[in-house]
Amino acid sequence: IVEINQLNKSFGQHHVLKDIDLQVETGEVVVIIGASGSGKSTLIRCINGLEEYNSGSLVVDGHGLEPHGGNQKALNAIRKEVGMVFQQFNLFPHLSVRRNIMLAPMKVKGVNQADATDTADRLLERVGIGSQAEKYPNQLSGGQQQRVAIARALAMEPRLMLFDEPTSALDPEMVGEVLDVMRELAREGMTMIVVTHEMGFAREVADRVIYIHEGRIVEQGPPDQVFDNPQNERTQAFLSRVL
Ligand code: ATP
Ligand code: MG
Repeated sequence: IVEINQLNKSFGQHHVLKDIDLQVETGEVVVIIGASGSGKSTLIRCINGLEEYNSGSLVVDGHGLEPHGGNQKALNAIRKEVGMVFQQFNLFPHLSVRRNIMLAPMKVKGVNQADATDTADRLLERVGIGSQAEKYPNQLSGGQQQRVAIARALAMEPRLMLFDEPTSALDPEMVGEVLDVMRELAREGMTMIVVTHEMGFAREVADRVIYIHEGRIVEQGPPDQVFDNPQNERTQAFLSRVL
């Protein structure tokens, strides 16, 4: 579902992503790890067209995004099919939880209000906060807000979900409830690319772990292999710091 070849991305003189090759199959769960500043968020943002890239190729679910933007049609298609969850929940503060979830399906997909309401309530049940639909985001805990953000992304029936450090802004006691929702999604077969520092989650849920160092994929493989027997000395050094 994702096909990236020799992707390069710079911010001005700063070469942030270097010759990235990445294929992700439908149903696969890929976890991306790496030090701060290594380019993880930039890579995720390129995949749904939030960042333009400089060279190489990027195809998501059959839609090719050209370097330097362009191709608005592909961009629109990708935005519809790819859900994104950020570290900061980015909910609309002036809308109720239910309205937050209804907005994109109604605006982007033309879903009617009754169907959007049903979908929102069903998704809120699914992420374990069915009783919170009338509340506003600031009345919820961080873990609840992040679960709303996941429900909001799911409301668009995405073919691929991108997560960029979804638990990094949470108090420790709320990390588990968000990881549980993600674990369940993975179990149901959602294709997911997840940037996280939660190595336990990565080990348990990932089909493949990718380690990025200074904008390059220097190691990847099944979690057991990457965590227990890393081949690259950069990966070894990184893991010895975080495990
Ligand atoms: P972290 O773990 O801290 O989130 P990261 O691996 O996600 O780090 P990125 O956010 O992708 O790293 O950033 C990679 C590099 O690109 C960093 O040096 C960062 O300063 C730079 N960078 C990111 N976004 C921009 C931008 N919009 N303009 C200029 N430089 C940027
Ligand atoms: Mg980041």
